Amino acid sequence: MAQVSVVRCQDYHYPRVREAVERALEPLGGMGAFVKEGQGVLIKPNLLQASPPEKGVTTHPAVVRAVVELVAEAGGRPMIGDSPAIGPLRRVLSRTGMEAVARQTGAELVDFSDVVEVKPPEGPFRRIEVARAALKAEVVISLPKLKTHSMMVMTLGVKNLFGSIPGFRKASWHLKAGTDRVAFAALLLEVCLAVRPALTVMDGVVAMEGEGPNTGDLRPLGAILASRDPLALDRAVMEALGLPPEGLPVLGVARQWGLWPEVQLEGEPLRVEGFRLPKGADLTWGLPSFVKGPLRRWFLPKPRVDQRICRACGLCVEACPPKAMEMRGERVEIDYGRCIRCYCCQEVCPEGAIELR
Ligand code: SF4
Ligand code: SF4
Repeated sequence: MAQVSVVRCQDYHYPRVREAVERALEPLGGMGAFVKEGQGVLIKPNLLQASPPEKGVTTHPAVVRAVVELVAEAGGRPMIGDSPAIGPLRRVLSRTGMEAVARQTGAELVDFSDVVEVKPPEGPFRRIEVARAALKAEVVISLPKLKTHSMMVMTLGVKNLFGSIPGFRKASWHLKAGTDRVAFAALLLEVCLAVRPALTVMDGVVAMEGEGPNTGDLRPLGAILASRDPLALDRAVMEALGLPPEGLPVLGVARQWGLWPEVQLEGEPLRVEGFRLPKGADLTWGLPSFVKGPLRRWFLPKPRVDQRICRACGLCVEACPPKAMEMRGERVEIDYGRCIRCYCCQEVCPEGAIELR
């Protein structure tokens, strides 16, 4: 039975966030239960792209700062790191507020470009390449943002660790999984088992619903959640949102692998009504099992470019793993026969010009 602690926190005013994070850790034994004197502690927020904190795309810097300070007070050496899917790391660190947190606290900012090959204990992908900084840290603390995700329904505790795969290698993993959500969920779980975060603290103060992970709508939930077990945390969040936990592909795979988490809730329960998922989110996981291989793509929503909003920046074309997109003059054209419905294009589009239909 894994404890999942929930504490209410209505905004990002720093003293309130700091107090909420401390209270969330109390039932788990406090930060001292995770960090010992002199240990190097990697703190991994969700830094998807160079968005300012108020957009709700990335873990809020107040949450990161609170965890960094608690790690330092417990005697650890805090390091902040992630591998953004979009944009140069320096720009992402600056716009998301991470540089400011590092300046305020003395935490080190670490780069994820150096990789190590690992053999996870479970799953079909017997070798994966993970950032050395994530594998070699004595302690890893994951700080996900509570958000929807067009491809994987939600991005929560387990999915946050996909950032441990360097940005330039993420596309090749999408290609290996193709249209198969189960295969991609298996990869996410393998990465999580390889990185083994000691603690996950989730920023659910202002969540994202609808077309996440970067063009959805802000949804204040007023909660900080914490657990030793990211699977238990993910299950608790799905239940708090009134969603079936198995609807989250990583939890479906966890059940198949005998890793289904039992949850013991601590603190102040969260009950959310009418939380909006991305369009077609249930379709992507709930396809009948006879729909296999290339046929699957025709059952999944297609990405469509709204040419009135598109600024022809070409970022989606660059990000598309199977090279199914191309610029024709000022227009983006999509070859749906090649498209694997990974929605990386929607994830990277800075204008919100890509819809799923
Ligand atoms: S067009 Fe979009 S959804 Fe299709 S493969 Fe390319 S990035 Fe993925
Ligand atoms: S990323 Fe968005 S704005 Fe840029 S070309 Fe693609 S659809 Fe257009």
